[in-house]
Amino acid sequence: MTKRVVLIGHPVAHSLSGAMQQAAFDARGIDAKYELWDRAPIALADAIEEIRGSDFLGANVTIPHKERVVALMDKLTEEGQVTGAVNTITREGRRLVGHNTDVPGFSAALDKLVGRNKMPRHAVVLGAGGGARAVVYGLIRQGFLRIVVFNRHLHRAESLVKHFSRSAAHMELRAMPWHESIIEAELVKTKVLVNATSIGLTSDVSPLPAGILGSDLLVLDLIYNRTRLLRDAEAAGCTVSDGETMLLHQGAAAFTLWTGQAAPLDVMGEALAAARAGGLRSAEGEPAGEEPTGEETATPTAG
Ligand code: NDP
Repeated sequence: MTKRVVLIGHPVAHSLSGAMQQAAFDARGIDAKYELWDRAPIALADAIEEIRGSDFLGANVTIPHKERVVALMDKLTEEGQVTGAVNTITREGRRLVGHNTDVPGFSAALDKLVGRNKMPRHAVVLGAGGGARAVVYGLIRQGFLRIVVFNRHLHRAESLVKHFSRSAAHMELRAMPWHESIIEAELVKTKVLVNATSIGLTSDVSPLPAGILGSDLLVLDLIYNRTRLLRDAEAAGCTVSDGETMLLHQGAAAFTLWTGQAAPLDVMGEALAAARAGGLRSAEGEPAGEEPTGEETATPTAG
């Protein structure tokens, strides 16, 4: 019987995961089909019930369900529990286990960004949504000692900080209001800057003015594109990286959880590049429904 894996989100039509995961199943000779399920929040519980059936290997969960789905799981891994967000589900009989593979995905992206440099200890994170939660937890686990989270709506950054109070008890995790002067003052003391907002996703704008980016920053944008932020940072002399590595590695970790096999990273990376070239453009967690604006000039970097 052909096994099934589904991506549950709303919308999901532009997701890159289908191409990446199907290529991996095919390359490993696994008889499985990756399906896209567009389910509004009201239909989430029914969709979760359906995947308890024996024909399912598991599921991916994306925007806007990553946090809401937590309460529907029978068991959570440490990453799912601590972040309060689930992007991958596995099945143990009829019981469902919630995982967060964005965390190892981010760690792989951070390792690549830092390269041979000494792992820094201070970071600024822009954004406080589901992606930011995986980022902050990844940074805490990596041994960062000071993380400052800026968000348009300060209260959301404050709840993120509160959420991590136990895991961050040994270090300094702070929420600060989004004022350019405050961000600039923080960046001077910081080595790593992560954009976990969706600013730059559908239009060619940057969350920060180019002038406040110092040349020694390591800048990671979770968006799967060469965003304005990354182009400005590169022009300022920074080392930069986009969301490709995180997307690839969260997918690889999910593949291994469903199949028990090592993920064919090369095949998955090629499938991602091909899907992008074919016009698909949504990384996991992106609000993929909007069409790009006429202003958008960012060019894909996949491949
Ligand atoms: P959420 O919807 O949970 O969070 C969106 C974040 O962006 C919030 O912090 C929100 O601020 C902020 N934001 C959105 N619009 C604006 C704006 N106009 N001005 C200021 N802030 C804004 O999304 P996710 O956390 O799931 O995703 C965030 C980004 O990360 C997306 O671009 C997504 O593609 C990317 N991502 C990439 C992954 C990958 O594998 N590469 C994995 C996960 C995410 P506020 O709270 O104030 O609304």
